[in-house]
Amino acid sequence: MKGFFITFISLEMKRRKFTKSLTASITSISLTNGFGHNHLSFRKEKLGIALVGLGNYATRQLAPALLETQMCELKGIVSGTPSKIDLWKKDYNLKDHQIYDYNNFDSIANNDEIDIVYVVLPNNMHKEFTLRAFQAGKHVICEKPMAMNAQEAAQMIEAGKKAKRQLFIGYRLHYEPHHREIIRLCKTEAFGKIKFFEGGFGFRIGNPNQWRLNKAYGGGALMDVGIYVIQAARYTIGLEPIAISAREFKTDLVKFKEVDELITWQMEFSNGAVANCTTSFSASTNHLYVAAEKGLIRLSPAYTYGQLRGYTRKYNFDFPQINQQALHMDGISNSLMNSVPHMNVGGEEGLRDMKIIDAIFASIKQHGKRVMI
Ligand code: NAD
Repeated sequence: MKGFFITFISLEMKRRKFTKSLTASITSISLTNGFGHNHLSFRKEKLGIALVGLGNYATRQLAPALLETQMCELKGIVSGTPSKIDLWKKDYNLKDHQIYDYNNFDSIANNDEIDIVYVVLPNNMHKEFTLRAFQAGKHVICEKPMAMNAQEAAQMIEAGKKAKRQLFIGYRLHYEPHHREIIRLCKTEAFGKIKFFEGGFGFRIGNPNQWRLNKAYGGGALMDVGIYVIQAARYTIGLEPIAISAREFKTDLVKFKEVDELITWQMEFSNGAVANCTTSFSASTNHLYVAAEKGLIRLSPAYTYGQLRGYTRKYNFDFPQINQQALHMDGISNSLMNSVPHMNVGGEEGLRDMKIIDAIFASIKQHGKRVMI
């Protein structure tokens, strides 16, 4: 028993050291290697970000996180709601020339303070504003899901290449220490080969009039939160799925007239591993576990902004809570400024998920038929 606790404490210390070094490596500034950013003619200490769409996520998470970031800062806002502007100007010390609406957005091209446009709009608007931002010569962070489907996602990637600007997706969990740790444990086969993944993310959605319940806006549980489970299955198993079977279930035909309420899907991987996944707009779930030959690794809660918790057969990992959004935006800024590789949050990663989402919907249409990817 004593041996177990000593092992536990030493593993725990290793984990803490890991978090510290992760944070340091993401935010450290290499001042000698500062020319990776391909359109800055002079060196900035922080990159300027403009938030497009001042809804919940931008207001409650991203803007406050930009007060904590070390390598980027809020330098512009784009909104179609004039009544929001005064408060934003006051809260973030913004001046008139930093305020845009959806019509004059393209003139952001003339604003050198802004390096990155962060698209935080309903999903059906992601492509349009990403393309317009590239036209304006800006890099883009686009929220998840990056587009309505894989075809749109591919067009966005192509536009970035043409403009010689980079496209990133709002995959904050790639920077989150519990997820970094679970990826490390899986990659090193700490508990042997992974055979099975099980994960679910869902919540009971409120207001029946919101865009998340509207198909034309890219609504539905899968697009909104199921995508996190797709992500987690892919980065723990470390492969792309080769086949998918999915089914959709509805209990409220009025509220979920247009979009999915609950979907379960299974992904098969080339090494024989299988992932069973669930997403829902009516049931609350937030977990993942990876079953390997010699034990399982579990995260619960797994996908939210608060304190995540990890468990294994040998020890738990409860890293201190960090600001996921700040770490994510700093990581991207560091990558642009100092050519430090980002944590796999590029457009191609978003496209892989969109292909899987397309396949899930295709399987549902065919009553659960196995769809090859
Ligand atoms: P929201 O509804 O709170 O905000 C959407 C914003 O878009 C609002 O300011 C709204 O005024 C504006 N808008 C412009 N045109 C609109 C139109 N035609 N219809 C509706 N709204 C319009 O949504 P949100 O929760 O902030 O989500 C925005 C994006 O961010 C989505 O893509 C969502 O998936 C993503 N998101 C990501 C995370 C994350 O953790 N990464 C969390 C929440 C949301």
